[in-house]
Amino acid sequence: MSATGGAHRDRLAAAAASAAAAGIDTLLITPGADLRYLVGYDALPLERLTCLVVPAGGPATLVVPRLELGAASASGAGEVVTVITHEETDDAFALAARHASEALGREPRTVGVSDRMWAEQVLRFRSILPGAEQRTAGEVLRPLRLRKRPDEIDALRGAAQAIDRVHARMGEWLRPGRTESTVGRDIADAIIAEGHAAVNFVIVGSGPNGASPHHHTAERVIEVGDPVVVDIGGTMPDGYCSDCTRTYVAGGKAPSDFAEYYQVLLAAQKSSCEVVRPGVTSHSVDAAAREVIADAGYGELFIHRTGHGIGLEEHEEPYIVAGSEVVLEPGMCFSIEPGIYASGRHGARIEDIVVVTEDGVERLDTIDRELAVLSG
Ligand code: ZN
Ligand code: ZN
Ligand code: ZN
Repeated sequence: MSATGGAHRDRLAAAAASAAAAGIDTLLITPGADLRYLVGYDALPLERLTCLVVPAGGPATLVVPRLELGAASASGAGEVVTVITHEETDDAFALAARHASEALGREPRTVGVSDRMWAEQVLRFRSILPGAEQRTAGEVLRPLRLRKRPDEIDALRGAAQAIDRVHARMGEWLRPGRTESTVGRDIADAIIAEGHAAVNFVIVGSGPNGASPHHHTAERVIEVGDPVVVDIGGTMPDGYCSDCTRTYVAGGKAPSDFAEYYQVLLAAQKSSCEVVRPGVTSHSVDAAAREVIADAGYGELFIHRTGHGIGLEEHEEPYIVAGSEVVLEPGMCFSIEPGIYASGRHGARIEDIVVVTEDGVERLDTIDRELAVLSG
C-alpha cells in the first residue's frame, strides 16, 4: 500500500506549519526521501533541477524539468501540488526562487534546504536568493518523519513481513559447500520475489567473516558447522525499507563457545526490546542490551550501537546509542540489533525492527530467533 493524496496533503500542511513555527519562510526540497515523504515522488537526482517549493504560509509548487513531467505526473504529486516545468534554456533556480517569493509576497529571508541537497545546488540558491539565510530542512522534517503515522507503520510492517519470508526460506540456499556470494545472489532474488522493489544490501558472513559487522559477501566456501550472520534488507514499492538479521548454523554442530554467547545475545536482544515504551530514552534501550552482554563477559565484543531508525531510508533517526537523550514516543520505528563478534572466529547478530506503541512496543519482524541449524 502507498500513502494516499490525503496523507501527502496532511504532511505538506504539517511541514508548512512547522516551517512557520521554526521561522523558516520556505522549504526547498530536492529529490530524496524528504520529497518522497511530502508528495510521493521518487524523483531521479539529476543535474537538472527538480525542487519542491513549500512556503510557510501558501500552496506548494513542484518545479521539474519538462522531460521529467511524465514521471512527476505518474507519481501522483500533481494531485497535491502545482507542477510547473522548466525548459533546457530556463534558469530553473530563478524560477523556483520566483515561486517562493510570489507565495510569500516578498523574498524569503530564511530558507530550509534539503539535508541531502547537492552543494552546487545549495550555492546556486544562495546566489539567487542572496538575502536569505540557509538552514537545513531537516530541522522541520526530521521531527515529522521521526513519528510514523499508522499508514507508515503498516507499510513498515509489510516490509518486515516480506523480509521475514526471505529468512523463512534460508534453508533453500544456505548450505555447507556453497560460497557466500552464491548464497547472497539467491537471497537477493528472493528479496525481490517476496515483494520488494529493490535490494538494499545482502550480508552473508560465514565463520570469521561473521565477526565483521558490515561484511557483505565473499568467495569463502561455507563449511559444516559455520555460524553465518545473514543481514538483509530492501525497499518496498511504496518506498519503505526492511532490515532483518538472523544468525544460522550451516549444517553440523555449532562451535560450543559460539552456542554459549548466542544465548547471551538472544537474552540481550529480548531485554532491549522489553524496555521500549514511550518516555524512555534511546540510551536506555542501548544500555539494556549492553548490560546483559557485559554481565556475561562479552562487553568488549559488542562493538556498535544497538540500532537505527528506519522508514523511507534504511538508516534514519532515531539512533539507539549510548548517551542519546532522544525520548521515545509512539510511532518511532527502529532496529534493535545487538551483536557479539569474536574476531578471527565467528560472530552473531539478531535484528528486529520495532515500533513504539502507546504503551509499549511491537516487533515488526517476528520470525523465530532461536539458533537455527540448517541442514542441507
Ligand atoms: Zn548497518
Ligand atoms: Zn541489518
Ligand atoms: Zn539495521
